[in-house]
Amino acid sequence: MDQNNYGFLSGGGEMGELIRAHNWNNTALGDPAAWPQSLKTSVRLLLSSGHPMFIWWGPDLIQFYNDAYRRSVGLARHLSALGQGGRECWAEIWDMIGPQIELVMAGDGYTWHENHLVPITRRSGKREEVYWTYSYSPIDNPGSPNGIGGVLVICTEATVQVLAEQRKKAAELRWRELFNQSPGFMCILSGPQHIYEFANPRYFDLLGGRELIGKTVREAVPEVNGQEFEQLLDEVYRSGKAVSGMATPLSLARLGGNRHYLYVDFVYQPIVDANGEVTGIFVNGYDVTDSVLAKEILIEEDRRKDEFLAMLAHELRNPLAPIRNASELLIQTSTPGSNTRTIGALIARQVTQLTHLVDELLDVSRITQGKIELQRESLLLDGVIQLVIESLQPLLTKKGQELIYEADEQALYIQGDMIRLIQCLTNVLMNAIKYTGVGGTIQLHLRSVDQMAVIEVIDNGIGISPEMLPRVFELFFQVDQSLERSQGGLGVGLSIVRRLVQMHGGYVTAMSDGLGRGSHFEICLPLIEEPFMLENNKNYIGEKLSPMRLLIVDDNVDSADSLALLLQSKGHKTITVYSAHEALALAEKFGADIVLLDIGLPEIDGYEVARRIRAKGYTSKLVALTGYGKPEDIQQALDAGFDAHMTKPIVFAELERMLQRYC
Ligand code: ADP
Repeated sequence: MDQNNYGFLSGGGEMGELIRAHNWNNTALGDPAAWPQSLKTSVRLLLSSGHPMFIWWGPDLIQFYNDAYRRSVGLARHLSALGQGGRECWAEIWDMIGPQIELVMAGDGYTWHENHLVPITRRSGKREEVYWTYSYSPIDNPGSPNGIGGVLVICTEATVQVLAEQRKKAAELRWRELFNQSPGFMCILSGPQHIYEFANPRYFDLLGGRELIGKTVREAVPEVNGQEFEQLLDEVYRSGKAVSGMATPLSLARLGGNRHYLYVDFVYQPIVDANGEVTGIFVNGYDVTDSVLAKEILIEEDRRKDEFLAMLAHELRNPLAPIRNASELLIQTSTPGSNTRTIGALIARQVTQLTHLVDELLDVSRITQGKIELQRESLLLDGVIQLVIESLQPLLTKKGQELIYEADEQALYIQGDMIRLIQCLTNVLMNAIKYTGVGGTIQLHLRSVDQMAVIEVIDNGIGISPEMLPRVFELFFQVDQSLERSQGGLGVGLSIVRRLVQMHGGYVTAMSDGLGRGSHFEICLPLIEEPFMLENNKNYIGEKLSPMRLLIVDDNVDSADSLALLLQSKGHKTITVYSAHEALALAEKFGADIVLLDIGLPEIDGYEVARRIRAKGYTSKLVALTGYGKPEDIQQALDAGFDAHMTKPIVFAELERMLQRYC
């Protein structure tokens, strides 16, 4: 080929070779050497570009294309496309591209299409969705109609990025749909100003349907200025660390300017780009107002219930005092074997039972309110156990049950509150007696394991089913409420035991092989070293008292009178008064050895009476009688000048013990 005339066809890779080899003389174009200059220039341009290019030339739209274009065109079309007329080659899409080409050929400008769908049939023979970004530009040629010799196509196939974009959009749509269905509120904030990019319907609802998208949080929700939310958003954006909140109070403005108070659980999560930079924040959460308010109501009701229980138990104690005194008096003043003595004993037993229930109620409310304090001392466990067994002996005898006590080691000491530990052991043992039939056996076993004392109470009674076992320590829980009602019980005993044992640093467990197979309780308490000296608990019961002068002051007439009768029956001299004024007037005149003084007196309370008696310098011993027996109550009594404190209803034996101290 003559280099001068055909030089414009040099190079161009595979397509350059094909164009050079093509027999152009068989086409309307004829010998390339004679082609118009603008066609030569365009073909040269096409063969020396790595960009996909295509030319339609002349009225027949004879086609040229380069290697880069060839890769997109598909083998089948490629074999015939070079030198072919455009209308024939692209028949399948001519209705789409034909008008565009004609526009350019008519000299009416050029076209530009971005990511445009031009489906074509590729080598597989299948029609494919192909996206192109392309321009059709005119090639000027003075001899041609309208001065336009052909059309230069510069194109790029954009299928891969268009499909990727479409997939991204579809995925975005899908997660937006998911977000829209979420029962929680969600939004996406972008940039450091926290601009709303997306919010789901729950989020719009939360904010009263106001406009959000495109606005900053500060603009859209100005009322949260000053609430912690804004600072938190700034912090998350700055630090790239998520933050969350539970039941956080939120105050929003509603139409009409009213404030709306809510509680929300929420998470602010940073949205991070490929470079690790925070670009926005994903907010999601729940409106938990209803559950927070319901919980508050429950807590308040629970508190009121505790208060009511405490008040009820306290009020129930008052009438028990005179009844107990009266029953004691009946027993003391009647002849053994008489009906009166039997009735007195019956009343005494029932009062004891009632007092026990009332005490349990009081304990529960104090425990749940965290008001119990332990009076700790060094205790020999074996001694405590012996005391409890002794006190339960009558019950065991009555049920014909045998209690077998074994102590692997006698000298096991703990630091504990004797009264409370007796209460725990008594509760567990009473249950064993209660839930074991007549003639049953109860084993009590004391041993030590790893610095813990273990007290086992094993019975062969009704047992506990596996489902119920984990629940026996719950408050007010009873496996079968129809069982053993005659024995009383509120379903609080074991919950008190567990709490008290925990307060001692120990734990209690319940085991059973099932219904009818007995129960096994274990109380474990931390051991201490054997103390050098144990307190010497003297037992005053039964010792003879010398007669004393007692002034009884109580506005509860029955309580005061019955106590006076009891004391008189023991040979003491008593005077009973029902008001503070009488008490103050009589204290010295009577020359009382001891003043038994009720605290809850009208007008002037017992503390004040005590202070005035002390101020006058009378030497009588003052004993406070009250329904309250907490350490702070006792301290208050001592501060007012009392010598001692007794909790009502008074157990006569305890009163006698106290009198013994002063006689
Ligand atoms: P209650 O006052 O009803 O005895 P407790 O809290 O002491 O309350 O006990 C809770 C429940 O545990 C009892 O109602 C009973 O069903 C079950 N329970 C406790 N101890 C035993 C036992 N030794 N044998 C079988 N069941 C028991």
